[in-house]
Amino acid sequence: MLQDPLGRRFYYLRLSLTEACNFRCKYCLPNGYMPTTTEKFLSLNECDTVIRAFASLGTKKVRLTGGEPTLRRDIVEVTAAAAQAKGIDLVAMTTHGGRLKRLSRPLREAGLNQVNISIDSLDPRQFHEITGQNKLSEVLDGVDEALTQGLLVKINSVLMSTTTQKTLDQFLDLLKTKPVTMRFIELMETGQSGQFFQSHKQRATSVREMLIRTGWKPIKREIHAGPAEEFMHADYLGKIGLITPYAKDFCDTCNRLRVSALGKLHLCLFSEQGLDMRPEIASLDVEALKQKLQSLIGRKAATHFLHEGNTGATKHLAMLGG
Ligand code: SAM
Repeated sequence: MLQDPLGRRFYYLRLSLTEACNFRCKYCLPNGYMPTTTEKFLSLNECDTVIRAFASLGTKKVRLTGGEPTLRRDIVEVTAAAAQAKGIDLVAMTTHGGRLKRLSRPLREAGLNQVNISIDSLDPRQFHEITGQNKLSEVLDGVDEALTQGLLVKINSVLMSTTTQKTLDQFLDLLKTKPVTMRFIELMETGQSGQFFQSHKQRATSVREMLIRTGWKPIKREIHAGPAEEFMHADYLGKIGLITPYAKDFCDTCNRLRVSALGKLHLCLFSEQGLDMRPEIASLDVEALKQKLQSLIGRKAATHFLHEGNTGATKHLAMLGG
């Protein structure tokens, strides 16, 4: 089992499949994706090696992320590799959702269980303004198709100063009729988003107060659950989760590790650097990679230093997938 010196166990791997994305979210890649390396992203066989090494060390859940994972031509094959790895019992993906109308079915057939679709606003104009893409209706078609195919659907929405009560009310309306979970994520500072962060930061405190006031009840957390504090309500089909990386003690229950599309282990989303594992990964040697992981895990720090404005090596989350 992968366990760090503080006794935290890592049931959950977030594997980035590419740094490329075709959306231009204001808080992430406002000028679009610009390649920073000629190094190749992990191949299908390399992804398979990473997943099997983690699985044999106790990891149970894999999230495929990016960049935009659905830009990969072999996304269905990578999903199948994750689903077939012995020990993995949940395969999830984080995506902008623009390609899910076409891809939900093959991904479901390949073994995908859950999809997190990023939607920061249900107002088409605001959606366009935030993402640089006028594609809200395609994304909502993707949500419907994912539900039709039996995928568990979560909607990721970044909380910003522009997230008004009207924005929240539109999401609450959606939860009345659709069995999806909303995840409101506090805007995080990254190396390249300092100015945007300062002018748009928004804590989840007022959303939590609104939920409690209107009858939403907290739900107990499972061992390989993500970092969200979840709520349910008898009048709604959907649930709500709050992700509050700036909250005190947020890191105490950390159960996740990240591998970048270039094969670096990131012990935290905001660690100082990624730890190179590409030689072990490229040799497709699961045993060597397991040993490498066990030798690196002891370096995981107790917390990130985001509160102090220290964003580590993370220039933007498209590097690692959030
Ligand atoms: N392209 C995919 C997508 O759009 O979901 C996956 C990658 S994206 C980096 C993963 C998640 O990180 C998205 O839900 C996005 O909204 C979130 N994210 C990106 N930058 C963020 C930031 N600075 N603070 C909070 N969440 C952020």
